[in-house]
Amino acid sequence: MAFMVGGREPAGDGERTAGLLEAGIALAGMGVPVLPCHWPVPLRPDTDGWTRLGCSCGQDDCPRPARHLLDGMEIADATTDVVTVAQWWTGGLCDANVATVAGAAFGVVELRHSARPAQVRAWLAAFEAEPGPVLDAGLGLVQFLTSVGDRAPRYAPIGQGTGVRWLGHGELVALPPSRLTDRYEVSWLQGLSGVTLPDGGRLFEVLARLPAAREPAEWTQQRAEVR
Ligand SMILES: [Zn+2]
Repeated sequence: MAFMVGGREPAGDGERTAGLLEAGIALAGMGVPVLPCHWPVPLRPDTDGWTRLGCSCGQDDCPRPARHLLDGMEIADATTDVVTVAQWWTGGLCDANVATVAGAAFGVVELRHSARPAQVRAWLAAFEAEPGPVLDAGLGLVQFLTSVGDRAPRYAPIGQGTGVRWLGHGELVALPPSRLTDRYEVSWLQGLSGVTLPDGGRLFEVLARLPAAREPAEWTQQRAEVR
């Protein structure tokens, strides 16, 4: 079964639902346990007339919009059974985002940083750290899928508001083509097919040494110092 790699064009509702169903089945078929999670829904038009998106859980201050468990579901419900997966997305959960669980098929290193993906890739190359599958998980957020690794979460700050996080086992990770409440769609920067899962601990350490600044000159300078 071929797996779609890379971004998708914004789709109409029918196509989007098919995309979620197909992705869920493809992932389960590749041995990645998946489960449905919350998704973005249009809110009432604001006083300025614009319609914004909120989380389908209905909480205004949802801490993990469109990326958390549905009521009545547990982490343990994640499955590689394609029949169950097909039933979820052809049933009442046709709009649900597709998620997997950190620590199930892989570990997850999450990088929140203003650097462009190409800069991050060059940084990893400077340390001879080869990324495995990589998710573009929202504005300024990149998630690296790695070997399963440690159970406990870890965090290393990089400057203000940026940092690298090792997701603890059991945390939910939205997979393509999940949509976010800022109208962003999770996509693969590097897909699952034909790549080896890197060591999560090493990737974490290399990313934690990223420079806080994004100016190309400073990047070049700091990379030169690393070599
Ligand atoms: Zn929510």
